[in-house]
Amino acid sequence: LQAQLNQAQKMESIGRLAGGVAHDFNNMLGVILGHAELALMRADAKQNLYADLIEIEKAAKRSADITKQLLAFARKEIIYPKKLDLNDTVEKMLTMLRRLIGENIDLIWKSSSHLLSVKMDPSQIDQILANLCINARDAISGVGKITIETGKHTFDEEYCKVHAGFIPGDFVMLVVSDNGCGMDKETQKNLFEPFFTTKEVGKGTGLGLATVYGIIKQNNGFINVYSEPGQGSTFRIYLPRLLEPDCVHTEEIRKKTATGG
Ligand code: ADP
Repeated sequence: LQAQLNQAQKMESIGRLAGGVAHDFNNMLGVILGHAELALMRADAKQNLYADLIEIEKAAKRSADITKQLLAFARKEIIYPKKLDLNDTVEKMLTMLRRLIGENIDLIWKSSSHLLSVKMDPSQIDQILANLCINARDAISGVGKITIETGKHTFDEEYCKVHAGFIPGDFVMLVVSDNGCGMDKETQKNLFEPFFTTKEVGKGTGLGLATVYGIIKQNNGFINVYSEPGQGSTFRIYLPRLLEPDCVHTEEIRKKTATGG
């Protein structure tokens, strides 16, 4: 518990710092980008200067992407949680995800037959899916497959006694797996750390999974990872399930009976 608390505090302060820096940085980038665009309009396309300006513009745009990720990580956006079905939300993202991972990778979708109600901002689920699929895509060289699966799961008291960090209750489950390069133990230990990346400079920021982790914790969920080098990786996410009114009623009766009330 102490380790989780420390992690939460660390994320909180890094988030605050990153958010503050990203905000000011973004303004300055706007100035750089604006001037680069102006200068490009005035420069002659044949001059060396033109090529230099193109490079400045490219780097400023890339930096703007990174600050956007930083702001997302710092959770500066206002969220609007609402009741939604996880199957529906995933389904709406499939076209976008297919575009994101490219033609060489198959995206397999295994929808649960249960109604999977959660109270969440749908854009947070979109962000989780996009970040996990980008990582899965980067872990696959050439052809491969990514599977997205949904389901429901109940953690009972017994399980939670043995597995630290879990609390009993009803959850919906979102699983993203790939048959990419997988991860060694060292990478698995660090992967939710902000700014931890094994990708080459300019490719990774190390904020993707830290953002995913932040969203899941904000919604009182859990995430676990199973990975073997050379075999692929599976990310399993649990989010509190919103029970239908009749289920809530049954739950309450069960609790009352259990407490003798
Ligand atoms: P980034 O993608 O910018 O590196 P992330 O926080 O999303 O940042 O990921 C951190 C690291 O975790 C990656 O650099 C990679 O080493 C590892 N990783 C994440 N997802 C996968 C995956 N599906 N397969 C293999 N390695 C992964």
